[in-house]
Amino acid sequence: MDKLAQLDHQYVWHPFTQMKDWLASKPIVITDGKGAVLNDVHGREYLDANSSIWTNLHGHKHPKINAAIQAQLEKISHSSALGFANEPASLLAEKLVTAANAIYDFGLTIDESSDKSARQSPIVNRKSQKVFFSDDGSTAMEVALKLCYEVERRVHKTPEPKFLSLEGAYHGDTVGAVSLGHIDLFHKAYGGLLFKSDKVMAPYCYRCPYNRAEPERADAREYRKCNWECVGKVEETFVERQKAGSRYAGFIFEPLMQGAAGMIPQPDGWLNRVAEIARSYQTLLIADEVMTGFGRMGDRQDACPTLFASHKENVQPDFLCVAKGLTGGYLPMAATVTTQEVFDAFLGEYDEFKTFFHGHSFTGNQLGASAALASLEILHSAESISARAALEKILGEELKSLWALEQVGDIRQVGLVVGIELVKDWKTREPFALSERAGIRVCEAMAKRGVLTRPVGSVIVLMPPYCTTKEQVGKMVSAVRESIAEVFGTE
Ligand SMILES: *Cc1c(COP(=O)(O)O)cnc(C)c1O
Repeated sequence: MDKLAQLDHQYVWHPFTQMKDWLASKPIVITDGKGAVLNDVHGREYLDANSSIWTNLHGHKHPKINAAIQAQLEKISHSSALGFANEPASLLAEKLVTAANAIYDFGLTIDESSDKSARQSPIVNRKSQKVFFSDDGSTAMEVALKLCYEVERRVHKTPEPKFLSLEGAYHGDTVGAVSLGHIDLFHKAYGGLLFKSDKVMAPYCYRCPYNRAEPERADAREYRKCNWECVGKVEETFVERQKAGSRYAGFIFEPLMQGAAGMIPQPDGWLNRVAEIARSYQTLLIADEVMTGFGRMGDRQDACPTLFASHKENVQPDFLCVAKGLTGGYLPMAATVTTQEVFDAFLGEYDEFKTFFHGHSFTGNQLGASAALASLEILHSAESISARAALEKILGEELKSLWALEQVGDIRQVGLVVGIELVKDWKTREPFALSERAGIRVCEAMAKRGVLTRPVGSVIVLMPPYCTTKEQVGKMVSAVRESIAEVFGTE
């Protein structure tokens, strides 16, 4: 083993990793990357098929982002947001607020070509106005949670504000974010540390008990037979809370697709409907766009230029939480974008102590903010918009070949994210037990073929950088196909 791999084995503890397994095999040591390609210490090439855990947008070593960071380095890398403003953070805040208001400014018009009955009326909403910077997705969620909690206490005089989130939700690993999450495997152990939050059924058409359709060789959202029972459950939950004499301060969701739950997409119209229900109970909407933001979920079909998944369903959240892709996946930086109403609840005389007592050492970091500014400029360019649309289409085309495999139960694509759910037999939807490590084994076989990604349970994730070429997409999908055949002996 080379020196770096040895040092890693000796000293580094990896996240979400069974270190016994890790220590039993030789790690891939990444030394550099360009575009969608990563290189290891032996000069081997790999495709970055999950954008370095869902963070990278435009590819590695992007000339514009590199130049922006280098220019900022010549000025200053970091000064504190406690007591001082700075150039890139000020500029970035304005750009983020503008992006967060894309549908607000567009007038919340509904896409004429889409199914009106599924979309219903636009949500009455509030304009985004303020940005609170932090460091990662978890802290963006902590900030939204604390702000929402305090607004509820101060404005509505609720002594113990309650929160509602979705089954399977993942909002990060800090204690507040974990309290909003509902993945037992990750969260159960910490029960004693957490506050209680309610959960409600999330759509998961492929495994929905209310979906009466037999399995087909298509995305389960398309052939499902149901009566929107999942929306009914949300309504019921709000009603029950009201009957109990209280209400929810915040409703937290990952718009369009739940990531760590297993790349589980919501059928068209679901988010619009449940957001409307939450609004009717004066509950604030907290959108976790840590994975879905910055064009990941594809663009709208109309002329409304938006980078956010909530906007595709005409939902303007009260809290928009972003991280992963904010800096193009270069540096740890996050933001919680919110409204004037929330901001105003913290205004007062100094000795009223209404200050938001929260902050991080690197809040508003200049290097991160300059990378984010460059990334936003790329995202808004005509070139990037058409490249994203083309990539979305190419992915859809290439994925079709996977339906031929017996172990492929569901292929779920939203924009530039794909989840491929492995099952024992597509005709029965019988799942693999986690202990069978089906997803891990397939991803290991993919790595041997030069394609790197990480599964979520038995779901193989493809989330390519936006610069990925048609040929590279072909290679990613072939690697999935060949690896499934190898692992399950159906070659
Ligand atoms: C990754 C992720 C988080 C947590 O972000 P970190 O930067 O890892 O703390 C929160 N929510 C969603 C939807 C995510 O995908």
